[in-house]
Amino acid sequence: MVHAESPAARAALESERSRVNEQLAHLGHDGANGTFDEGFADIGQVTAERGEVDAIVGSLLETLHDVEHALAKLDDGNFGTCEDCHQAIGSARLEAMPAARFCIDCASAKR
Ligand SMILES: [Zn+2]
Repeated sequence: MVHAESPAARAALESERSRVNEQLAHLGHDGANGTFDEGFADIGQVTAERGEVDAIVGSLLETLHDVEHALAKLDDGNFGTCEDCHQAIGSARLEAMPAARFCIDCASAKR
């Protein structure tokens, strides 16, 4: 497995994770507990904005989930393996998207 030991990927994933957590904290969302704290009321003053913030938080949580998942795959030694066809994910794709779960073929087949 070419990607089994990939310090660069781990560093990229960990920095992505802190970036997402920071953004969530900024939005008043506690990423760890999956709840909004008291401060959220100040950010989501207008109902329309609340919906927008929910959408942003939703996509941040999705990213966080993918990043955590990729880190777990690194720990398992499965990093860089497509979860669908179990072939190696291209290194260019992994560099661009370290949290990618599927190879380019499977990812495009899903769209
Ligand atoms: Zn695949």
